[in-house]
Amino acid sequence: MFYLISIVIVIVAFVSMELVAYLTHKYIMHGFLWSLHKDHHDHSNTSKFERNDYFFVIFAIPGILNILYGSSDLSAPYFWIGLGITLYGATYFFVHDLFIHQRIKVLRNTSNPYLLLLRRAHKIHHKSIMKQGGESFGMLLFIKYRSNKTIKQ
Ligand SMILES: [Zn+2]
Ligand SMILES: [Zn+2]
Repeated sequence: MFYLISIVIVIVAFVSMELVAYLTHKYIMHGFLWSLHKDHHDHSNTSKFERNDYFFVIFAIPGILNILYGSSDLSAPYFWIGLGITLYGATYFFVHDLFIHQRIKVLRNTSNPYLLLLRRAHKIHHKSIMKQGGESFGMLLFIKYRSNKTIKQ
């Protein structure tokens, strides 16, 4: 029973992070922290790293703190919340940075329809290089479907 509850907490934390990521992307990264996110859209930064990468650090903190704080008592939810947050962050990194943007060439071609849908949806987001007026802010779940005829891969 203990482990079942733990697994449920991890899943709820993971799914909740998609909502957090969606809202953060739409209202903070395309809001008052646009100065950090801008170079991910307009590629104005020529180095291997983008200012946008600061969000890795920002998003990693709550997961790390929950894991550190909760690791002494696994019957409390904190460790499992932290694990869900961190697993979401890792999945986001693999899907967004490795698969979609090919920052390291590991997973280039796939016929997996879900991954192709995620990539198409995120390319719709990248059609705009502006702070305002963008769309498709989610990553894994809250994505906007559009036929691939309207968007270049
Ligand atoms: Zn964006
Ligand atoms: Zn992107």
